[in-house]
Amino acid sequence: MKVKTRLPSWLKTEIPAGNNLHTVCEEARCPNMGECWGGGKHGTATATIMIMGDTCTRGCRFCSVKTAKNPAALDADEPKNVATALAKWGLDYVVLTSVDRDDLADFGANHFASTVEHIRQMAPQMMIECLTPDFLSGLDVYAHNIETVEALQRQVRDHRAGYKQSMFVLEHAKKTKPTLLTKSSIMLGVGETDAEVLQTMRDLRSAGVDIVTLGQYMRPTKRHMKVHEYVTPDKFKHWEDVGRELGFVYAASGPLVRSSYKAGEFFISEILR
Ligand code: SF4
Ligand code: SF4
Repeated sequence: MKVKTRLPSWLKTEIPAGNNLHTVCEEARCPNMGECWGGGKHGTATATIMIMGDTCTRGCRFCSVKTAKNPAALDADEPKNVATALAKWGLDYVVLTSVDRDDLADFGANHFASTVEHIRQMAPQMMIECLTPDFLSGLDVYAHNIETVEALQRQVRDHRAGYKQSMFVLEHAKKTKPTLLTKSSIMLGVGETDAEVLQTMRDLRSAGVDIVTLGQYMRPTKRHMKVHEYVTPDKFKHWEDVGRELGFVYAASGPLVRSSYKAGEFFISEILR
C-alpha cells in the first residue's frame, strides 16, 4: 500500500508506506523538496534518508536531532528495509546520512556499509552518496561536512568533531579511493569572517575535496545557537565563483543550498557531462 506523505499539493511524489523511511527532507521541512524529489530539469529524483535511529550521541549546537548517551540498539533489519523501500520508491539518487553513534564499537560503519550493499543489490541503477560520521565505506560520492571555519568549530560542533579531524577524514577518503568524488559543506552566518571562509575552502581543496556547498545556517529552535547574520545572495554568489576559481569540480552556494540540495542533478549535469 502507498500513502501520500505530508507534502505540498504540487508535489506528486509518494514514498512507500510502512517501511519506516526517515527522510531528512521531510523532517527538516526542507524548502527544496519540490525540486529534489521532483527531479529538477534533469529528471534526477533525489532524497536524503536518515539511518541508525533518530537519536545522536553528539550534540552540535546547530542541530535539532535528539541526543542521548546510549540511544536504542541498531535495528538489524534496517539495511534491508531501507533498500526495499528505496527500490519501490524508484529514486535516481539517494543521499544516506545518519546520526553519530559513538556508543558503537565501529561507530555504525558496518551498518552503513550493509545498507549501501542492500541498496546496490535491490536498486542497482541508483546512485548512492553517503554523508557519514567520520568513517568511510565504498561509494560513488563521499560527503563529510566541515560545517564551519576552524576558529568556530568548538562553538558550533560537538567537542568530539574537529576541523583537522574532518580534513583528515576527507583527505584519507580521497587517498584510499582516488576515483571517489569527495564533498563537503560549510554553513555561513554563524560568525565566520570572509578570510576564514576562504581559508576553509582552500584547505578543502588541499585535502582533495571535489565538491563544496555553502548555505545559510537557520536556527531550528530557540534552544539552538543564534544566527549571527543572514549572508546576502550576492555574497553566496561570490563564494560560488571563488569555489570554481579554486578548482572545485562543482561549487554550489546560496541561502537555501544544503549538502544534499539537488545532489543527483548536480552529479548528472556537472560531473558526468
Ligand atoms: Fe546533529 Fe550530526 Fe551533530 Fe549528531 S553529529 S548532533 S546528527 S550534526
Ligand atoms: Fe532533501 Fe537535501 Fe533536497 Fe532538502 S536539499 S529536499 S534535505 S535532498
